[in-house]
Amino acid sequence: MSLFQDSEKLIRRDIRHIEGYVPIEPTEILSKQVEIPPDKVVKLDGNENPYGCSEKVRQALANYEYYHLYPDPEQRELRRALAEYVGVGPEYIVAGSGSDELIDLVLRLFLEPGDEVINCPPTFGMYSFSTSVCRGLTVDVPRREDFSIDVPGIKKALNKNTKVIFIASPNNPSGNLVSEGDIRELLKGNIIVVIDEAYFEFCGVTAVRLVMQHANLIVLRTFSKWAGLAGLRAGYGIFPADIVKHLMRIKQPYNVNCAAQVAALESLRDMDYLRGTIKAITAERERMIGELSQFTWLKVYPSQANFVLCRVLDGEAKRVHRKLRQKGIFVRYFDAPGLRDCLRISVGKPEHTDALVVALKDMC
Ligand SMILES: *Cc1c(COP(=O)(O)O)cnc(C)c1O
Repeated sequence: MSLFQDSEKLIRRDIRHIEGYVPIEPTEILSKQVEIPPDKVVKLDGNENPYGCSEKVRQALANYEYYHLYPDPEQRELRRALAEYVGVGPEYIVAGSGSDELIDLVLRLFLEPGDEVINCPPTFGMYSFSTSVCRGLTVDVPRREDFSIDVPGIKKALNKNTKVIFIASPNNPSGNLVSEGDIRELLKGNIIVVIDEAYFEFCGVTAVRLVMQHANLIVLRTFSKWAGLAGLRAGYGIFPADIVKHLMRIKQPYNVNCAAQVAALESLRDMDYLRGTIKAITAERERMIGELSQFTWLKVYPSQANFVLCRVLDGEAKRVHRKLRQKGIFVRYFDAPGLRDCLRISVGKPEHTDALVVALKDMC
């Protein structure tokens, strides 16, 4: 036995007591928790694609012959295909192990200890989480009542230590877009503006065009939501070419594994199928909004993504969340500032919406 026992003391003081990111649980675990078979679980808590990935992706993964070799550290084939999909040159693209990895990489590239990152809550939790891990300080500039960003507030918060601002568009969990006017206004600041378009395919609105005209704009995307590849971890970003050079130097050489590369490439070759599922999901989103609006005790927010935010007006969101859970229907419950008594419900298949509506009627 080693005499050394107290590793705790050696751990960086600033992250010794960090609050971990609160992730969602996989179906098998949820299924055990509520004692409902996995195929009966209605999983509407992760904004995942209920139709799964393309069948061609499954075949390509089964047929791929080079799992024993390291993937291309330059991601050449993938970056070329992504470039074509996005409509820019490959020199503007970097792929990551999910866009989560790119959030971390961007912060590693720009933050000195103590530098500030503007965060506009309620929003995606990874921005503040990765900021802490990268020794930065999160400066919160809350969104307004309607979840739009507070541009004057952001401008006031800028100082010489501000390096980066993250804006998800559509925002998770509120589902609304940021306007191009607001992005242009933010770009005037001397900071890196990251527009996170994880849900781009569900709305078609993008800031990619602006990346070509601004040295401080980054757009992040992912295959997790629209392409049904959340479990494989495939994301990418569109960056000014100068930033790409630096990112390619500091990233782990084999950051996107072979399976993720094969799956992403094959997804881009099966757009007809994937466009069909995106259409099904956006149509179901509108139907779900209609169905949920019949409950007078719910305030349903409009959405440009594959989820819908609802506020439980009688303050019983926690109970609703628990009761749905007991029936094997999993949604995301929030009780953070700006999200009091809110549920975020991912858009599933029509039968999932139907099960949800029946369960909610049962509760009245
Ligand atoms: C889901 C999500 C991501 C994470 O995407 P991955 O590619 O799976 O890491 C990033 N940003 C937002 C806003 C998301 O909701």
